[in-house]
Amino acid sequence: MTLLQLAGVSVRFGERTAQYALDGVDLAVAEHEVVCVLGPSGSGKSTLLRVVAGLQRVSAGRVLLGGADQAGVPVHRRGVGLMFQDHQLFPHRDVGSNVSFGLRMRGAGRASSADRVAQLLELVGLPGAQGRAVASLSGGEQQRVALARALAPSPRLLMLDEPLGQLDRGLRERLVAELRGLFSRLGTTVLAVTHDQGEAFALADRVVVMRDGRIEQAGTPLEVWQRP
Ligand code: ADP
Ligand code: ADP
Repeated sequence: MTLLQLAGVSVRFGERTAQYALDGVDLAVAEHEVVCVLGPSGSGKSTLLRVVAGLQRVSAGRVLLGGADQAGVPVHRRGVGLMFQDHQLFPHRDVGSNVSFGLRMRGAGRASSADRVAQLLELVGLPGAQGRAVASLSGGEQQRVALARALAPSPRLLMLDEPLGQLDRGLRERLVAELRGLFSRLGTTVLAVTHDQGEAFALADRVVVMRDGRIEQAGTPLEVWQRP
């Protein structure tokens, strides 16, 4: 089943210059699929995620989640989880309250959210880290906390924007392998953005290549690799 569908989505900046961040994008993401959007800086990758999240208004076209048009649906009602490169954790709160933030916002009680937080931290490889200070964690550990926070409300779609962008090479390779395993275990539908070809190929069921606000090619990592 199709979870996410974009039909003719354009985002235009500037009335006179008519500069398009997205220019007639059509994209469908099936349930449980992991799709990586690859492309150079400025090709429209972040704008694509922002449009799906409801953080960016479209100039034309439609965004559907679970078959429902998302026009006018606010961010917190879309059922999407977001994780950005600058993961925006609250540096002065402990790990537990960072992970539970979204749950408490949605009205979860203290006890049920504590259980969920423990389960999530185990999942991302940081068991028992609830009481640790965010500032004391390594970059890789902070990415794990950000991932746990994004997964906390069980989003139907998880969106990652350069999730491993600030980490060193070795750690990235390890985390990519872990993420891949985690997503397939959870059956999470993922739309991830990266400018790193190796990362996209390792993570994705399907790779979408963007250039100048358009989808240039799309296919399995092997298909995209073999095309000139
Ligand atoms: P990427 O994530 O691939 O680096 P972006 O989606 O951030 O690309 O940006 C796509 C294009 O749209 C870029 O040329 C960028 O400068 C432009 N853009 C993004 N946001 C705005 C904005 N608010 N106003 C004007 N131009 C913007
Ligand atoms: P990122 O690529 O880090 O996700 P965004 O594209 O989300 O950055 O842009 C960050 C902020 O800067 C947003 O408010 C966006 O609207 C604005 N912005 C991005 N590119 C431009 C641009 N070329 N001109 C004006 N504002 C821009």
